[in-house]
Amino acid sequence: MAEPRRIALMPGDGIGQEVMAAAAEVLQALDKQTPLGLTWDWLEWPSTDWHRRHGEMMPADAMTQVQAYDALLMGALGDPGPLSDANRYCLPDSVSLSPLLQFRKGLGLWACERPARLLPGAPQYLADERAAEVDMLVIRENSEGEYVNQGGRLHRGTADEVATQLEVFTRRATERLIRHAFVRARERLEARGADARHFHCADKGRAGAQVCLITKRNAQPYWGDMYTEVFAEIAAEFPEIGVHHELVDAACMKFVQCPWTFDVVVASNLHGDILTDLAAVLSGGLGLAPSCNINPDSRAMPALFEPTHGSAPDIAGQGLANPAAMLLTTALMLDWVGCAQAAERLRQAVAKDLATTAGQRRTCRDVTAGVIAALH
Ligand code: ATP
Repeated sequence: MAEPRRIALMPGDGIGQEVMAAAAEVLQALDKQTPLGLTWDWLEWPSTDWHRRHGEMMPADAMTQVQAYDALLMGALGDPGPLSDANRYCLPDSVSLSPLLQFRKGLGLWACERPARLLPGAPQYLADERAAEVDMLVIRENSEGEYVNQGGRLHRGTADEVATQLEVFTRRATERLIRHAFVRARERLEARGADARHFHCADKGRAGAQVCLITKRNAQPYWGDMYTEVFAEIAAEFPEIGVHHELVDAACMKFVQCPWTFDVVVASNLHGDILTDLAAVLSGGLGLAPSCNINPDSRAMPALFEPTHGSAPDIAGQGLANPAAMLLTTALMLDWVGCAQAAERLRQAVAKDLATTAGQRRTCRDVTAGVIAALH
């Protein structure tokens, strides 16, 4: 019999605790229906509370410990506590969010994927009725680019101060990212069938699937041109997938104007960071936006699954957080560890619960109970 796959549950801070409790309850319900072949451990770290007790966000050997797992499911990090609390333990983001960077970099999780699909019943912020058809996958480069954190400040604090911030783009990282975007586009095309949907594509007029490359090559031509050339080379390997190219500013406009015209979107670290938040709103807001950090080429290291939202200190501890983003993130994790059927059951249960309760004010408990009922 195959070894059970191991999952680390890392609730973290703020509403991370509440939405992780919901995820664990739902995992249990799924496992009861059909054994998942998974085991899961609760970890108290990384968290602000761990920092309060130990002076760091996680143990010194955390990077070794996490390698015992196939996937890390995280709630959220960064909790200054309630504003009214005189003993708030407020860490700078550079400390409280540092475990995320350590996991992404240290575990080689070079792609961040954020599916953005507007489920029936979810808040639709755009008036155009076609916005109900939003169903895109934004893939963000996670290992280099604008976030390499190299540079410096000279003559700090003086009128002559100079700040430099270096950006690094390698062909290797560009190729693997763009190839992965085309692979995902092909999978999506296979899943929905060639005739189900058509996208306007620069090369083919119309095609059943599309990868849209985002750059700012008019102002940043060096990496922009390299991305564009690599994109063209790899597109030739995927004749059934149409291509499109948008400058990031135009893409922001079109995400609002006609988001239903996008299928797979591939972007650099910074551009992807911005566009994925925008995409989260298109799919109903932060309460519904899942996310994962993966190495699509290797399962040697655990992948990291976390909802797009943060720890939401404004509503933490009140039971008001919507756990749907966490549950859709859990579905991504189930796909990753080979439980595709359970993942699909969970996605359908979240969708069913949402569709039958649209417009109601609901607590974390209500949504969790509703999803579990929909599973049955
Ligand atoms: P971070 O910088 O960690 O992303 P943030 O404060 O910018 O933190 P969030 O913590 O995601 O962002 O919160 C942004 C807003 O969205 C807050 O008003 C919060 O209450 C709301 N929000 C976030 N997640 C949820 C959720 N799951 N359910 C309901 N509201 C949420």
